[in-house]
Parts: sequence; C-alpha cells; structure tokens
Amino acid sequence: MSLPAVTVVIPVFNEEAVLPELCRRLTALFDTQPDCRWSAVLVDDGSRDGSAAFIRAGAAKDPRFQLVELSRNFGFQAALAAGLAQARGSDAIVTMDADLQDPPEVIPQLVAAWRGGAEVVRAKRRSRAERGLRRAGFDLFHLLYGRLTDYPVEPDSGTFGLLGGAAIAAFSQLPERHRFFPGLRAWIGFPTADVLYDRQERAAGETQQTFRRLVRYALDGLFSFSHLPLRALTYAGIFIAFMGFAAAAFYAVRRLLDIETAPTGYTTLVTVVLFLGGVQLIGIGVLGEYLGRVYDEVKRRPNYIVKSPGTRGVGAEKNPARD
Ligand code: UDP
Ligand code: MG
Repeated sequence: MSLPAVTVVIPVFNEEAVLPELCRRLTALFDTQPDCRWSAVLVDDGSRDGSAAFIRAGAAKDPRFQLVELSRNFGFQAALAAGLAQARGSDAIVTMDADLQDPPEVIPQLVAAWRGGAEVVRAKRRSRAERGLRRAGFDLFHLLYGRLTDYPVEPDSGTFGLLGGAAIAAFSQLPERHRFFPGLRAWIGFPTADVLYDRQERAAGETQQTFRRLVRYALDGLFSFSHLPLRALTYAGIFIAFMGFAAAAFYAVRRLLDIETAPTGYTTLVTVVLFLGGVQLIGIGVLGEYLGRVYDEVKRRPNYIVKSPGTRGVGAEKNPARD
C-alpha cells in the first residue's frame, strides 16, 4: 500500500519574519515522519514583504514545498480556499496559520486521529491567548453563534485541523464567496475528532487580522449560517403591530364609554415614532446584510486570482482534477 499524501495548507500574508522558522520546523517534521508523503502549499496572499520570494526560493530547493501566489491581498479565507483547491488531490489536508501559533509538532496527532477513523480533525486549544476586548468579542460571537445557528462551532478551535479525502471533496463543492471556515467545517458533517494543543504566541510580527476584519468575519459567520435575524424581524413586526392594535382598541373603547382623555400624548407620539423608525431601520439593515451577500454570490466572481505560473489561473470552486 502506498503512503498517504498529506498536504499542509498555509495562508501567508507579510510573514517574512516567521517563514524561516516555519519552514525549518515543517521540514524537520516531514523528515522525521516517514509514514506519509508530505508536502506544503504556502499561499502568498499578496504580501508586500519578501514572503513570496522566500517561499519561491524554498520551493526551488525542496520540491515538497509549493508556492501559490495570489494577485493581491484577498484575505485569509480566500487564501485558504486557494490552498485547498491546489491541494485537492491529497489524501488529507492540514490547514494552519503561518505564524506558528499553531505548532507544526501537533500535526502527527492530527494525522493519527484521521487514521483512527475521523474525517474531520479539529485542533482544540487548551487555553486561549486572547485577552481583554478581543476575548470579550470572541465570547460574544460564540454565544450568539451557538444560539442562532444549527451547526455550532467549537469555540476553542479555529482553522488549525485536518480534512480527510471525503471532507476535501465536500469542501470543493461549496461554491460560496463569503466563507467562514469553522462553520463550513461543522456544516459538512462527517465523524469529527478533537486534538488538544497549547496555542502559542505569535512567533514574530503583528497579527494581520484587524478588529474590523474580525467583526466582518463574525458577521459572515452569523449571516451565512442563520436566517434567524430575518425571522426575528418578522416576530418583532408582529409584536409591534399587535401592540398597535391593542392601543387602538383601548382608545376606541374609552371614546365609546365617553371617558374623555385629555389632549396629552406629544411625548408618547414622539417616542412611538422614533421607536418604529428605529425598528424599521434595523430591519432594513438586516435585509441589506443578506441582500449584499446575495449580490456577491450572484456575481459569481472568483474568490481569488492566482498570479504565479504553473498553478491554476482562477479560483473558481468547480475545478477539474488537479494537474
Ligand atoms: N493571513 C492571510 N491574509 C490576510 C491576513 C492574514 O493570508 O489578509 C494569514 C496570516 O499570514 C496567518 C493567518 O492568515 O498565516 C492568520 O493571521 P493572523 O495570525 O494575523 O491572525 P490571528 O492569528 O491573529 O487571528
Ligand atoms: Mg495568528
């Protein structure tokens, strides 16, 4: 029986400072684990430093390393999709960050869990490094996400993990543009295993995920996996209409019984008008979130464009077999 081909897919954006260490540790891993045919796909997501050049030089020396170069910065999710498309022929794909927050030394455990029968393996943090506002944001997101969707994600696992052959095939059938990887991974199903690990500090450099990006990512997660915000609007509308009827009935009865009310009510009027205006604007905003996403999907623009020669040209998700 031939050895399984395992590809490590890593999105890279301005990671010049950590790449030497990353490649050194990956090479060490590949050399000491002869029970797989290892390779690594590093997707350069439009870095403005020497990342692409470094990977290209490394790939020239060691054919197990491959560079996929995107034409500009498309964002982490798109870069990941590009890597998954490139590695599609593998028996298993390991997905991880470049910054060594996900230690490569955990990969053999992921592979072991996969060999033990799991099709999806999630690396689960024993502890989270984030503190303060970020931490509060993550907690709030997971609380909302868990309530709103039918496919809750494991709060302590991120991108780091492994996809087996069937999961890779399932992923390649997901055509959407707004991607939330942990949500999609939960959505595809399959027997899933968790491997515990200690998340490290970033080896060097600064986080590339700004707070704004994280918020956008969180909204993508919520809106692509839940229609509940729309339904909540319907319920709010029904509730408010009901209150309106009740108030109308109340005043009508008073008028019929000749209980005359003094012409007060300016404050009430203003409050009600403002309240309803606010509710309607929120409603339009929520509709807009969905509509914008529908618009992005129907345009069918690819998620990313590959610039380097020797790799497939465009990131359309429905692709023929690997070259
Ligand atoms: N990354 C990317 N494109 C981007 C931003 C980030 O490919 O536009 C990569 C980055 O190089 C790293 C991974 O995505 O390998 C995670 O990014 P980062 O460490 O900045 O995020 P955090 O760990 O803080 O969530
Ligand atoms: Mg990181």
